[in-house]
Amino acid sequence: MVDFKLSQEQEQLRDLARDFARKEIRPVAAHHDHTGEFPEAVLRKAWEVGLMNVHVPEQFNGLGLGTFEGCLIAEENAWGCTGISTAMEANNLAQAPVIIAGSAAQKKKYLGRMMEEFSLAAYGVTEPNAGSDVAALRTTAVRKGDVYVLNGEKMWITNAGKSDWFFVLAKTDPEAGHRGMTGFIVDADSPGVKVGRKEWNMGQRASDTRGILFEDVEVPVANRLGEEGMGFKIAMGAFDHTRPLVAAGAVGLARAAMEHAIEYAKERKTMGRPIAAHQTISFMIADMAKDISAARLLVWHAAWKIDQGIRNTLEAAIAKCFGADMAHRVASDALQVFGGNGFNTEYPMEKLLRDSKIFQIYEGTSQIQRLIIAREILK
Ligand SMILES: Cc1cc2nc3c(=O)[nH]c(=O)nc-3n(C[C@H](O)[C@H](O)[C@H](O)COP(=O)(O)OP(=O)(O)OC[C@H]3O[C@@H](n4cnc5c(N)ncnc54)[C@H](O)[C@@H]3O)c2cc1C
Repeated sequence: MVDFKLSQEQEQLRDLARDFARKEIRPVAAHHDHTGEFPEAVLRKAWEVGLMNVHVPEQFNGLGLGTFEGCLIAEENAWGCTGISTAMEANNLAQAPVIIAGSAAQKKKYLGRMMEEFSLAAYGVTEPNAGSDVAALRTTAVRKGDVYVLNGEKMWITNAGKSDWFFVLAKTDPEAGHRGMTGFIVDADSPGVKVGRKEWNMGQRASDTRGILFEDVEVPVANRLGEEGMGFKIAMGAFDHTRPLVAAGAVGLARAAMEHAIEYAKERKTMGRPIAAHQTISFMIADMAKDISAARLLVWHAAWKIDQGIRNTLEAAIAKCFGADMAHRVASDALQVFGGNGFNTEYPMEKLLRDSKIFQIYEGTSQIQRLIIAREILK
């Protein structure tokens, strides 16, 4: 039996997130885009109303919500502003490896604490020479008694400058390729951790992207996630949970772009008629509506599967790839509906187009998603 009807609890959650996005995120989106100021006040409010850290298990004072519910929230937040929603979602990405592979003590210390007081965490895998090619990463962790000594450099880490701890993937056996990688929880205030300057990116400027340097950083063995050599599996396994969330964000952005386009197309007149009455415009909007609906169904399917405990690597990659490409296309078409005004910073469209691009890059590029999809269906 397939059922697309949301439960009462899911509807309430979505309404809460929708209301939050309308009242707290949308009104400050342009400000954070222009200034790059970190939206900490918004994130604190989201934490207070229970819209952050929603996947932390109940045992550790969390809501223990599934990926599906997370996707309902992510779409609404992203409708408000994807710079701000990315800053919010970074916690989910950092927490996923701990939820998957952490011990009860690690979960209590690092996840439980995030339920008691507002704090942020970051997921540190990418390096200057290792993005798509995760196996090429160079950060090393060498065991010395009760600690591992970390050396290396991470790059493009969302919320790096605002986080209390990082999930870090490092090589414990550099000769063993991806089987030689191990995951760690690293306290941001550990001696030898140096966080770089905030990058000034094309879009999603509210989020805080930085490099992190590790110079002889001592990490207790107690902060190792799982066994040595399990890190790659843990880090990649996290994406099965979080790629549907990213794709849901892409849907939220596209929905916002389409709504702006509809409103404008009804008001703007050319040749004696609203531009919505010109078929080229109305069909462009029709295409937006069908692609957004398709992307949302893919998101829901991928999320539903992982929540049922069924492997969803293929579906998560399909949802992420389709959602990201769709959002970029819809943002571009919606800007086109605005004509010259779309190109101007007084209108929201150029921000949406800039913001949309990163969906095709982070958490695995659209090319890498196609690689995963091909591998999964050809094996
Ligand atoms: C704003 C922002 C936030 C980010 N946040 C985080 C974060 O929080 N944590 C984190 O760990 N990382 C983060 N990243 C890093 C992001 O995941 C990487 O940028 C991404 O995986 C691509 O890696 P790369 O930039 O090294 O590009 P490369 O891997 O060098 O790729 C360059 C191009 O080649 C293509 N390509 C590469 N290999 C192949 C292949 N085998 N087949 C076909 N095409 C290929 C890619 O698709 C891309 O088009 C973030 C990046 C940005 C820009």
